[in-house]
Amino acid sequence: MHDEYMTRSLPIAKQSTDTYHTPSHVVKALTPFRKRTDVGAWEDVDQLIYKEQGYGAAFKSITRRILFDSNAGQHNQVRYFEVAAGGWSTFEHHEHTHQVIIYRGSGTAIVGYHSFQVSEGDLIFVDSWQWHQFIANDDAALGFICIVTADRDHPVQATPAQLQEIFSQHPELETIIHA
Ligand code: MN
Repeated sequence: MHDEYMTRSLPIAKQSTDTYHTPSHVVKALTPFRKRTDVGAWEDVDQLIYKEQGYGAAFKSITRRILFDSNAGQHNQVRYFEVAAGGWSTFEHHEHTHQVIIYRGSGTAIVGYHSFQVSEGDLIFVDSWQWHQFIANDDAALGFICIVTADRDHPVQATPAQLQEIFSQHPELETIIHA
């Protein structure tokens, strides 16, 4: 099967002084149809680690899949993330935007300084440099499709001082955000 794959690695992240590096992956050859094999799983779509080491406990119980890659003619990536019950994505911000479609389950999306209860079918837009985090409910996984430009900057986490500022301005977020 491996000879079906293009083995070049993708320049999907701009160089940065940040320590984050997008986990390497193989860009797969395009095929016209891939069957869904389970909820949140598809033929010829690998489950990948969410982010590499260096993020400590900044995220919990989250996986990543690339549904459509940058070789699909639109200079973007369409990813599927799944946060297990009780888990969360990194609280972060960056220049690139996110177009998000909730695919399964329910949870909380932090966007900017607002929190939203989200469930299947909801749409979320994260603009440049807006803080964001996706948190699954304790009793349900939260799966979402997230579209990003292929050439993008690295996510940046909040410093302790930034968190203190956010929580002083928006105290209601202190019990919601995981950072
Ligand atoms: Mn992000």
